[in-house]
Amino acid sequence: MKHILIVVFLFTTVQFSAQTDAENLKKIYTNSLTDGMSYQWLDHLSNQIGGRLSGSLNAELAVQYTKEEFDKLGLDKVWLQPVMVPRWVRGAPEFAYFETSPGVTTNVNICALGGSVATPAGGLKAKIIEVGSYTEIEALGADKVKGKIVFINRPMQADLINTFEAYGGCSVERYAGAAEAAKYGAVGTIVRSLNLRLDDFPHTGSMGYGDLPNSKRIPSAAISTNDAELLSGILALNGNINFFFSQNCKQLEDVQSYNVIGELTGSEFPNEIMVVGGHLDSWDLGDGSHDDGAGVVQSMDVLRLLKASGIRPKRTIRAVLFMNEENGLRGGKKYAEVAKSKKEKHVFALESDSGGFTPRGFSFDCSDIMFAKIESWKPLFKPYLIHYFEKGGSGADIGPLKDDNIVLAGLRPDSQRYFDHHHAANDTFEHVNKRELELGAASMTALIYLIDTYGTETLSNNVELKN
Ligand SMILES: [Zn+2]
Repeated sequence: MKHILIVVFLFTTVQFSAQTDAENLKKIYTNSLTDGMSYQWLDHLSNQIGGRLSGSLNAELAVQYTKEEFDKLGLDKVWLQPVMVPRWVRGAPEFAYFETSPGVTTNVNICALGGSVATPAGGLKAKIIEVGSYTEIEALGADKVKGKIVFINRPMQADLINTFEAYGGCSVERYAGAAEAAKYGAVGTIVRSLNLRLDDFPHTGSMGYGDLPNSKRIPSAAISTNDAELLSGILALNGNINFFFSQNCKQLEDVQSYNVIGELTGSEFPNEIMVVGGHLDSWDLGDGSHDDGAGVVQSMDVLRLLKASGIRPKRTIRAVLFMNEENGLRGGKKYAEVAKSKKEKHVFALESDSGGFTPRGFSFDCSDIMFAKIESWKPLFKPYLIHYFEKGGSGADIGPLKDDNIVLAGLRPDSQRYFDHHHAANDTFEHVNKRELELGAASMTALIYLIDTYGTETLSNNVELKN
């Protein structure tokens, strides 16, 4: 009899909490869709401020604006965390053409890659040679490469459903192509934009020279996918053509910037910290609405949505707007460094940095026991069409927090259109859908609520259980 009573008691408790959870999720989604702030905040960040390259005036305006908006929310704490960031500037717009015979030129759309050096003042003109991947440069050797511009033309793989996999497959061409070509005496590199669509937008992004001395560094630019196709077609007909490009970018001294942090202090376990975040900096060609204005405003709205839904978290929830993800990750590294030096206990971190598109679910970096717990929440997310729960990556900014005690997660929106806009001039506000953005903010809040309610199972917990 006693056992039956316990079972009935447990059963009703579980039933009751499932009902409470469903009601709380409903409140969160309703509030986000009827009274959300994320779209309004994004409008300001994108249209009143614009692109927020690290170290720029716009990046500082974004720091001020988001801090002021946090201040208006009546949070427990709001502060700026100082971090030194690199400052790379694009300078005057780039210009490029190919020349099929003397004086016969066709202009093409390029943009300097972030971190690249400039061309000589009057531009750079040389024979151009095409490779399908930067790994082919070695086989060509200095004989064929010396004195030339290397055109790295590797399209993103179209049949991968997760477009981030296709991006991962060729982002190394952009990052390391110039350093590799320079080893064999190339004078410049032109890299096909990482875009699955054929269009006229060149897509920037970070590149590096490794330990190549300054005197050996060669300029590198991205070319639009339409122009990559055109150039490749022309080269197939006539392998002996000149390419000209000019770019005026420059690496300046590091400058002071900030991560912006808002906090709701936990009511029961204030020392257990949960982070939700995105990155405040962006590239400079568009206004950074998808990458990562969306993640910034969604993270801000998580704190507001918890409050507005009458949920007082047991654990401390911090929204962290990281600076300098794009060309340095200094903000993410600084946040983790300070957390470690203060011996703060971070139990969970969630990042949104995959665009403001319709949310599908989340990926997790966690123990099997934690993942099983998360999967048990699937029915709660079902009404909101959130179904994707996979083990895998989380986000770049929260990566430095990784240890045995933390569960990391990333919001996974539909990724089919993300690379149409990523790091290009068309990453702009009108390409973000209000409801899709709000559904993402609500989904993140729902996950934060559930993790706060039921806690995390970490590797170190597992060890404790065994002992
Ligand atoms: Zn990003």
